[in-house]
Amino acid sequence: MGIQKCKVCNHQFTYKEIFISFFNIFNRVYCSKCHTKHILMVYVRLLNGLLTPLLLFSVLLLPWPLSLLLIILDVLIFPYYARYHPAD
Ligand SMILES: [Zn+2]
Repeated sequence: MGIQKCKVCNHQFTYKEIFISFFNIFNRVYCSKCHTKHILMVYVRLLNGLLTPLLLFSVLLLPWPLSLLLIILDVLIFPYYARYHPAD
């Protein structure tokens, strides 16, 4: 598990590029070398769709500092499990 490379030119995406895309509602990232638009894969969107409510629900079950830590941890490791495919 590492940060993905561009599917077109094999350019290594940076942590910052992927991290910023987490907060982009369209979850797109552009290769800084060949400018190809990459879209987040459906399974990662589904994973986030399941994980986010679970983490938010954990606020009710766990002490809040622990829940907050889990939420921050999820956001920080996102660039390592995010997978993109080039847009058509
Ligand atoms: Zn590229």
